[in-house]
This record gives sequence, structure tokens and C-alpha cells, in this order.
Amino acid sequence: MPELVESINCPHCGGPLNLTTGEVIVTCPYCGSAVRIRSDKPFLLRHSMLPARIDRDGAARAIQGWMEGGVMKPDDLRRTSQITSLDGLYLPFYVFEVDADTAYQGVLTRTGTNERRDGHLVRNYFWKVLGRRSGEYEVADYHIPLSLKVPFDTTQMLKDARMLNAEVDEDEAGRLAQEEVDAHQRELLKDLVDVVENASTTFAVKDSEFLHAPLWFAAYAYRGKTYKIIVDAASGDIVKGDIPGSSGGFGEFLKDSTRGIFRR
Ligand SMILES: [Zn+2]
Repeated sequence: MPELVESINCPHCGGPLNLTTGEVIVTCPYCGSAVRIRSDKPFLLRHSMLPARIDRDGAARAIQGWMEGGVMKPDDLRRTSQITSLDGLYLPFYVFEVDADTAYQGVLTRTGTNERRDGHLVRNYFWKVLGRRSGEYEVADYHIPLSLKVPFDTTQMLKDARMLNAEVDEDEAGRLAQEEVDAHQRELLKDLVDVVENASTTFAVKDSEFLHAPLWFAAYAYRGKTYKIIVDAASGDIVKGDIPGSSGGFGEFLKDSTRGIFRR
């Protein structure tokens, strides 16, 4: 059990909020307010959620459907597998709408000549940052279905899912988003020039969002081994799934997905 470090009251409804070590934004279990714990003065955040349309049974059906389809999978996968755990979690995410403009100079060598190139790589992103420090939630390939979001409402939550508080505050999340967008822009530059001599990115954060997204984290057993699957409880999509026998296992699935990116 996480260590309980403090107890304060919700600034909105007065209900008791229990804080555990490392948590900086706590969602009130009574009214659903997201409260930033900033020294001694609690601070309310704008807070959204994605409504869950897939309950526990629906998640199990989605997993079974996934096991049946696809060329990479063993023929007996559904017959032989057993779901051994299925946990519903509301994970805290920040989403930043960012305009990124990377000014670059470089050299194109692929043509056999050394052509100098310069320009601007301009992109708009909806970039997500998970508000947890643990690496146990493998959600890099999760595309938040932002069009489904609604204001946070505890009455709309799955009854048997746990809600996790944020351990990363919005300032830190914003810095992480900028670092990640910058790294991604540098990746994209490789299409434009072979040798990057200079690149510098300016950012304009146009909007930010704090939201909880429901996901089902499942494990299944197949021929003596355990594999993991994540189901998006808002859309019913399989976010990620371990396939027995494939070389990369977790991480090979959904090859066409772009990590953490929401582009218009
Ligand atoms: Zn409250």
C-alpha cells in the first residue's frame, strides 16, 4: 500500500482527500474536482474525462475478438488462452496543443551531391504526457480519443475501476511535452536533410487539458506464458497486445502507430 502522507479537504465540496507520497494532483472521490496540492494552498484544475463505453465483460470480448483476428497470431490463440487478470484504471494525462516551428540547416547527401538545405519544419500537435512516474503503464501507442471527452463526472465512472492521481504536475508535464516534441521534430528532419547542422525549435502552447482516461489492463496465459493486452475503455480499441511467438512481443503490435502524437 502507498504511504498516506497527509489528509486535507477538497476546496470544492469539503470532502476528505487522502494524499499518498508523490501525488501532486488529487481527484476528489466525492465531487470529482481535480485539486493541485501546492504548498498549503489547494488549487482547482479544469478536469475532463473520457466516458467508458466498454465494461469488464466488453473488455473481455474485445480481447477475445483480437485473439481471433490477424495473421501474426497462433491459430489456437483464443481457444487455448485464458484471461488471468483484467484491471480497469483511470490514468491521468495532460494533453498540450502545441505549435512547433523548427528552424534547421543541414546537408542533403542522399542524392550523391552535397546540397545545402535550410528551412522551417512547422507542425501542430496534441501531445500527451502521462501523469505517473512509473513505467508500468505502457501507453506510448495510446491515442487519446479526444473527441469523446466530457467534463469529469464521478457518476459516469466504471464502478470497478480505480482512479490514479497525478504524480507529475502541469508545469513539469509541459516541459516534458516540449522535450518530446523537440525530439520528434528532430526525427522528422531526417526526411528533409541527412546531416543536421543546426536545429532550434520554438513552441507555442495553445491549450492544455488534464483528463482521466479509462483503460483495461489485462494479462492472459497461453501455453504456460503470460502476455499483456491494453484495451481503450472509451473506444473499445486494442491499444497494445502481446502476441505469442512474435520476436518483439509487447511493442511490435500496431506498427503504423505514431508514438504519442495527435496531429490535426
Ligand atoms: Zn470534492
